[in-house]
Amino acid sequence: MEIFAHPEFDGHERVVFGHDTASGLRAIIAIHNTNLGPALGGCRMWPYASEAEALTDVLRLARGMTYKSALADLPLGGGKAVILGDPHKDKSEALFLAMGRFVDSLGGRYVTAEDVGISVDDVEVIERATRHVAGTRAAGAGDPSPSTAYGVFMGIRAAVAHKLGRNSLDGVHVAVQGVGHVGYHLCRFLDQAGSRLTVTDIDDKAVERAADEFGAEPVAPDAITGIAGDVFAPCALGAVINDETLDQLQVPIVAGSANNQLAAPRHGAELMRRGVLYAPDYVINAGGVINISHEGPDYDKQAAVDHVGRIHDNLREIFGRAEAAGIPTSEAADRLAEERFTKVPKAA
Ligand code: NAD
Repeated sequence: MEIFAHPEFDGHERVVFGHDTASGLRAIIAIHNTNLGPALGGCRMWPYASEAEALTDVLRLARGMTYKSALADLPLGGGKAVILGDPHKDKSEALFLAMGRFVDSLGGRYVTAEDVGISVDDVEVIERATRHVAGTRAAGAGDPSPSTAYGVFMGIRAAVAHKLGRNSLDGVHVAVQGVGHVGYHLCRFLDQAGSRLTVTDIDDKAVERAADEFGAEPVAPDAITGIAGDVFAPCALGAVINDETLDQLQVPIVAGSANNQLAAPRHGAELMRRGVLYAPDYVINAGGVINISHEGPDYDKQAAVDHVGRIHDNLREIFGRAEAAGIPTSEAADRLAEERFTKVPKAA
């Protein structure tokens, strides 16, 4: 298995493999870049079909965290960890303590947190073996979803102002795909702002709640990408902007929380060609990580909320740069992030 020649290898500073015989831990930590600070990124537990698949995932996710933190103006770099295993069958106290020792062995260059397959309870076991963790209950910031939703709300405001020239979301029609943790809170903010909501979810109860509480109009899951409205807000799955859905879209704006919304980079260019303004996912969904970056004994909720709100200005800058350069917003975001994390001289 190639590492330096791997298609997802992007100058990562470290890629470390961890193994513990007693607990059966098999894990990989990838640190992409620490120019701006320690590499923060969640720990994912997944029954990968192969070690190669796990490596691909951790390299890609670690790089994404560098870009996300740089654009959110955080003193943090990008990294990620994956544990190879089934979160429903393979979890144990010994496994997470071994993971904690693995994280600790990097001396703080990597800071871990929860991710897919890993709960706050699991992170709190990891924390018994290392202080390099974030997002625990004791740390104060709590559930990241409302912060993520608030960032998406502010991002939608920025997109609507830029594309439609409207400074209010009153009467703006938003189609929300997925009303789970983030989607539900997003609907709450949008409802308070007077927006018209159309929602879908594969979970009927989640749809009913949004309909009851916010007067949202429910539609079938496969109808949401074809709603004629102002904004499509993907808050469920990745790769939702693809060859099939591009032809269905009847909105001038795509702005939502889901990670990796573009099935391939070329879909960002295709959105631009069709006149659809895209709020790059890792910029608009950074509210949770911004909130976590404020945690600690002096956690100041208002300061964290204000910082999340700056997602609005970040997006306005990206939209402006993309337009001026005639490039997709996804590319403008990458360039701005690279400017921020590559210009900083490395600490000794
Ligand atoms: P969640 O699991 O709570 O909610 C996702 C919802 O989408 C669920 O209600 C699920 O039933 C629904 N769903 C799944 N497949 C669907 C489909 N085909 N059609 C319609 N609905 C479908 O997850 P979440 O925490 O709300 O996160 C939503 C998205 O935002 C994810 O892509 C996640 O990676 C991303 N994100 C979340 C956070 C956060 O703070 N939670 C931060 C950054 C990014």
